[in-house]
Amino acid sequence: MPNLKSPNEALSRSEASTSTKVTFSIDKIKNFSEWYDRALDVGDIIDARYPVKGMYIWRPYGFRALREMMSVMREIMDRTGHKETYFPMLIPESIFGKERDFLKGFKGEAYIVTQAGNDSLTEKLYVRPTSETVIYESVKPWIRSETDLPLKLYQVVNMYRHETKQTRPMLRLREVVEFKEAHTFHATAEEADRQIREGVAAYSEFFDRMLIPYIVVRTPSWDTFAGAVYNIDIMSVMPDGKALELASVINLGDKFAKAFGLTYRNKNNKESYVHQTCYGISERELGAMLAVHGDNRGLIMLPSIAPIHVVIVPIFKRGSEDAVKRAAENVKGMLEKQKLRVEIDDKPKGVGDKFYEWEAKGVPVRIELGLKEIERGELVIFRRDTLKKETIKAKDAPKRVLALMDEITKTLKERVDEYFKSRILHFLTVGELKKHYTERKGLVGLPWCGDEKCGRKLEEEIGIPTVGFVPEKHIDAACAACGRRDNTIEMYFGRTY
Ligand SMILES: [Zn+2]
Repeated sequence: MPNLKSPNEALSRSEASTSTKVTFSIDKIKNFSEWYDRALDVGDIIDARYPVKGMYIWRPYGFRALREMMSVMREIMDRTGHKETYFPMLIPESIFGKERDFLKGFKGEAYIVTQAGNDSLTEKLYVRPTSETVIYESVKPWIRSETDLPLKLYQVVNMYRHETKQTRPMLRLREVVEFKEAHTFHATAEEADRQIREGVAAYSEFFDRMLIPYIVVRTPSWDTFAGAVYNIDIMSVMPDGKALELASVINLGDKFAKAFGLTYRNKNNKESYVHQTCYGISERELGAMLAVHGDNRGLIMLPSIAPIHVVIVPIFKRGSEDAVKRAAENVKGMLEKQKLRVEIDDKPKGVGDKFYEWEAKGVPVRIELGLKEIERGELVIFRRDTLKKETIKAKDAPKRVLALMDEITKTLKERVDEYFKSRILHFLTVGELKKHYTERKGLVGLPWCGDEKCGRKLEEEIGIPTVGFVPEKHIDAACAACGRRDNTIEMYFGRTY
């Protein structure tokens, strides 16, 4: 689907979102693309009608979820010794072009400012597609001796890339709104290597907490980041079977240090180059989280980042409005004392419409409350993950709802683990793969000897690009390309976003 909406399409969307009747029923697995766009729209996350390809408007509900997610990331970064910082968005060409591979890698994607008002600029300014160059140029005076190392920085900023592939909200963008990029500086190659493992561990913790399933692989040498020595990728699989790169943890070695003259005085008072790493995540993570957890009724919010944990829907009957409203306020107060985010939906709309709407937004728990419940001292509780209802004593609400947040998290984890297991397939030969991997959904592994030639040959034979391999995990099988048996590992292939 083209990203620039035709006027008619935009109109039908706007009608859908202003109509009182919101219904949602799309088979997520069969029609993932349609599901994703509609779920983000009806689920109040993104407004996709902005007239620039790859740039989207965040609705308050969606932005709150993103903020909650990023606060988890910030907490992990701060705890693991990274310091938050900020560097300018416009980068002079003289700095941007200092590392040649990097320049080559990004030149086609960078937006370049050449004019201000009516005046041509004397030097072109690159709008950051990522911040390696500006940071490495700027921190030179901060690093003088070994005591200034390691230096571990991160920033959360927007960045721009002129994406030529098809764009999707959060997954493939021209404007990334919350790009969390970390950049670290070390005295030795060993320390940079260790930092790569720490970076992967920090991200693994993040994805574990966000219940986003993943595998950690090393990118083959012919596919590494521009200017990198090697990179480790953390990959997931979307419901349509396509692989999604969640994050890349990159060892830059001393390549950038040499280009930028980043040196320090070591113990023997000798100038040495620093060793560097960098790694980033973005709102793509939220897109992945919503995609893997949602169901045919729309989104399901993970309790830890849900903008609203509980929505209370009062069931009014003529004459009972005041009593029901008071009771709803009372329940809200009790739940808020438990640090739960609660909203009462007393808008003049049909109860059924409200149910649909909050289900599509993925609010974990809904409470229904009318005169009948008040008289009995009860509440009806609906959980979004299983779509099941239960009746509880009103006074037990805080305890029960808190417990439900944990139960819902547990159910979502079990479901997503099951899903991911079915999306990673292992084969021994190309023939076997061709015979059984007919739907071509998910990641596939084949035995590989480690030779670039064999990797490329397999890629060509099966017509699916490489994703990466696990270097230390040897398998007892023959390379699917050359038949060699020593040191065989598994190479993963997959179509990617
Ligand atoms: Zn081989």
